[in-house]
Amino acid sequence: PSPLDKDQMQGLRGVREFLKVRTSYDVLPLSFRLVVLDIDLLIKKSLNILIQNGIVSAPLWDSRNSTFAGLLTSTDYINVIQYYCQFPHDLNQVDQFRLSSLRDIERAIGVLPLETVSVHPMRPLYEACRRMLKTRARRIPLVDVDDETGRETVVSVITQYRILKFIAVNNEQHTMLLKKPVRDLGLGTYKDLATSTMNNSVLDVIHLMVKHNISAVPIVDEDYRLLNVFEAVDVIPCIKGGAYDELSATVGEALSKRSDDFAGIYTCGQDDRLDSIFDTIRKSRVHRLIVVDDDGGLKGIISLSDILKYVLLYGEEEDSIRGG
Ligand code: ADP
Repeated sequence: PSPLDKDQMQGLRGVREFLKVRTSYDVLPLSFRLVVLDIDLLIKKSLNILIQNGIVSAPLWDSRNSTFAGLLTSTDYINVIQYYCQFPHDLNQVDQFRLSSLRDIERAIGVLPLETVSVHPMRPLYEACRRMLKTRARRIPLVDVDDETGRETVVSVITQYRILKFIAVNNEQHTMLLKKPVRDLGLGTYKDLATSTMNNSVLDVIHLMVKHNISAVPIVDEDYRLLNVFEAVDVIPCIKGGAYDELSATVGEALSKRSDDFAGIYTCGQDDRLDSIFDTIRKSRVHRLIVVDDDGGLKGIISLSDILKYVLLYGEEEDSIRGG
């Protein structure tokens, strides 16, 4: 192997070792706030709470049984929208849905319920990463069980973004060895990209995300140049107050309503190296990278799961991958 390959493998091994000796608990900041929602809450109200708190997901709590009841994410709202599209005369009912109805909504529109995986906060972080990749979950709740009462407590939720940030901040000595360009690593998706234009409706883009099981759609102009990205979380302000009829608005109109603290869109080129991508993650709130050419033409998309998958699994023994 070339010196470049050697460094790359050494860097990857370093990061993997790090993930094995740290726990999910280590990722959490010293002090943090956790918004947990009761499943008796109206879905409509949950939207306001997320918006007011500047968050896009929350763990759910079943207070009757004192148990953790899964994670509320933008996928749930997209399911409600699909329900509304299939049963447009039920708007009154949609208005009265509670978070406890989410499973019924899934059933009614025929989507498979998401597997609710959780991890114990004191287990190795590596395990949380493997579990995320296996289930395609973008976030995973940390659930602890009280020794005495046997009751569950949701400690926090960690996301792929948090984990990659944690790696970037604490592992510069390893990530700086990852000098191979994105092109050589085949990192990301470059074929059959799901894209949209500013003039498509929000609903069209939502259907596209559902069809491809993705959470972001690049918005391009007529020359296939990147203009913006519509993300699953952009759906939340669109349906605030139960305004489902506004989903027929264009993507352009919806994106103009983005909040001021929008994290921004991050791009890279195919010749950029993984170490510089980690630099970007270290400095910014990156949720994906859009790959563009020198003229801003759309080339591909690198999701956080693409990066996590590469960092964890590249060059690993087949067996250990299957053993999950
Ligand atoms: P995201 O949450 O950003 O959609 P995922 O991790 O769910 O990312 O992405 C799953 C796979 O789909 C990744 O390999 C990613 O490269 C790919 N992907 C993401 N967005 C698109 C898109 N708009 N078109 C085609 N493929 C995509």
